[in-house]
Amino acid sequence: MTIRLRPHHLLCLLTYVGKGYSPAFTANYDAIAARMAGREPIVIVDGPDDICRPLLGDPDVHCRRAGVRERDAQAAKDVSALLGHSIVPDAAFVLDAPTLGRLRASFAARTIRSACVGCEWSALCSTVADSEFAGVKIVHVR
Ligand code: SF4
Repeated sequence: MTIRLRPHHLLCLLTYVGKGYSPAFTANYDAIAARMAGREPIVIVDGPDDICRPLLGDPDVHCRRAGVRERDAQAAKDVSALLGHSIVPDAAFVLDAPTLGRLRASFAARTIRSACVGCEWSALCSTVADSEFAGVKIVHVR
């Protein structure tokens, strides 16, 4: 199978420690994190993705809001510049060990975090990054 990810979740996966909006949300995210650690293929999508899925029964959920799409645009720009390939809808994304390492180093250095401005989880993500990503669900990829 293929994991569908919106661009800003390329950042969120770096600091995911099992916290989220609801038990259903984190159970789904845990399963996706395990699949990512196993190098399952990833495709970039526009709008709500496989991580958002447990929340989409709510018609007013933030996942569909313009501000979150702006977060995607910022993340796509930053990650594209870092990795040198375009993060656009339908693009395949390879989360291998070197890529995970580059993303984490840049996230910790705050150079790919323009998408995080105003996010309610920002303090937690900063703490995780500053603790050398202690407790993250995706420790490494195979
Ligand atoms: S601060 Fe928000 S957008 Fe940034 S990585 Fe954390 S959860 Fe994702």
